[in-house]
Amino acid sequence: MDSFGRQHNYLRISLTEKCNLRCQYCMPEEGVQLTPKSELLTAQEIITLAKLFVKEGVDKIRLTGGEPLIRPDVVEIVGELHKLEGLKTIAVTTNGINLTRLLPRLKEAGLNAINISLDTLVPAKFEFIVRRKGFHKVMEGIHKATELGYHPVKVNCVVMRGFNEDEVLDFVDFTKDLPLDVRFIEYMPFDGNKWNFKKMVSYKEMLDTIKQRWPELEKLPCETSSTAKSYKVPHFQGQISFITSMSEHFCGSCNRLRITADGNLKVCLFGNSEVSLRDHLRSGASEEELIQIIGAAVGRKKKQHAGMFNISRMKNRPMVLIGSHPEKQWHIATGILQTQLRGYCVFQKDPSSTFDTKCLDASVGQAPVDCQSKEACSGSEFHTRESGSCTRVPHASDNLTHTDEEGRATMVDVGGKPDSRRSAVAGAVVLLGEKAFGMVKQNQVKKGDVLAVAQIAGIQGAKLTSQLIPLCHTIPLYHVEVSLSLDEARHAVVIRSSCHTWGRTGVEMEALTAASLAALTVYDMCKAVTHDIIIQELKLISKTGGQRGDFSRV
Ligand code: SAM
Ligand code: SF4
Repeated sequence: MDSFGRQHNYLRISLTEKCNLRCQYCMPEEGVQLTPKSELLTAQEIITLAKLFVKEGVDKIRLTGGEPLIRPDVVEIVGELHKLEGLKTIAVTTNGINLTRLLPRLKEAGLNAINISLDTLVPAKFEFIVRRKGFHKVMEGIHKATELGYHPVKVNCVVMRGFNEDEVLDFVDFTKDLPLDVRFIEYMPFDGNKWNFKKMVSYKEMLDTIKQRWPELEKLPCETSSTAKSYKVPHFQGQISFITSMSEHFCGSCNRLRITADGNLKVCLFGNSEVSLRDHLRSGASEEELIQIIGAAVGRKKKQHAGMFNISRMKNRPMVLIGSHPEKQWHIATGILQTQLRGYCVFQKDPSSTFDTKCLDASVGQAPVDCQSKEACSGSEFHTRESGSCTRVPHASDNLTHTDEEGRATMVDVGGKPDSRRSAVAGAVVLLGEKAFGMVKQNQVKKGDVLAVAQIAGIQGAKLTSQLIPLCHTIPLYHVEVSLSLDEARHAVVIRSSCHTWGRTGVEMEALTAASLAALTVYDMCKAVTHDIIIQELKLISKTGGQRGDFSRV
């Protein structure tokens, strides 16, 4: 138990750092620097440690990796774990490539739960994302698992914008006739996987999409320590779940510990503190000493992880070297995801990809080539590649001026832009309700003249914009005007603000800030009368000047 009262009964053990796939989001193309074999845990050491954890209350062990099913002694390890009294669940997370061949023996040895990773139902996209062949083997493995009675067979699908977010509904359909639990996993940052928040599709976004197609979607009850939010389309055999590690973390109920293939205990997937159980084991630590070391590490476990932006900057092992399954844990402009695979271009219709979509040459796994024939690829979903290559498609960040290549906030350098006259008009509406509206109209509010104070607040707000909005420039405002009028029919104050400058960047943020501050001031001055006040319709009404042209709301 840690210092927050969380009982840790779930241990994940990585059996290997090696993998027969090279998933883009998990591992670099060239693989990872492997730990020498002598420094990896032997089967005997794995069992010794497992025994200790089970004795201390662990009742579920998941074998993972790397790819656990490429370890030659995996069946024997499962068999030995099966002998541990008190261990209720022995699970494996696998990419499914070797599953059909091994599953009967694994089942016989005692394996009673299985998660299979599959991010796409399109074979060519599979080869693109895992940089290897094998789609049909994985599908075969999924069917084999259902035939052998695994119920449910969990299918892990990491959802990435610009790659597979358009397949969410197809994955839901996949649960119609099979006892599957398709688990949509939010894309997580790990060392080297070029994570960027724009690539992450949040669970709420996925759920919205699914509910539009299946309004009758039912929420299923969940266990306290469960990391999954589960749903079911009535009458479908299977179900779907969301693993919201990023948008809604579940640190509060975390019951997981991890042992890496080189024997380090990690108490948090996103933490970088590790304790080498291997070294203690090899230097002859007694069972009691080991339990003390493990207890101390668990005792140091933090309340929660550092948040997604911090995690994305933090030093951590690449996912493949943690060997965890992310059971614990985002949309932008248009562009085109263009991937060339074995002579084909895969085209996405809503291509907001910020994916590293360098084209792959005819055989998957070879070095990427830069493509030049964009035209040859446009239009439909699959195109025969004739000229050999396609132009790299712009990153979504290319279209967004305030984000850098990594999707992080950045201030635009306007030094090179020409000066021009720029203006912007913004507005907002404050619904006050009858009583407060009457008092404002009669100028009877105790705090003073609401309309006059809010007008000054709006003007001050415009001038302070660069101090309030992090990426805004400080610009000379030549004129700010804020007007407030009364709308009898709606019992509302209608705010209009306008700003003017002669400079290198626009004033829409200044106009919007003015309208916001005026609206908030109306709220502040009337809140003693009622809290039933709604600020709405905060919007840019028009803008002139600048390279992007004028805007006017009709
Ligand atoms: N090789 C096995 C497999 O792919 O199932 C087991 C190890 S793999 C690291 C465990 C799980 O982590 C897989 O389901 C994989 O999809 C998921 N995963 C890897 N990198 C991820 C990331 N950046 N974000 C979310 N899930 C990730
Ligand atoms: Fe290998 Fe699994 Fe990582 Fe893919 S997610 S590279 S299959 S370890």
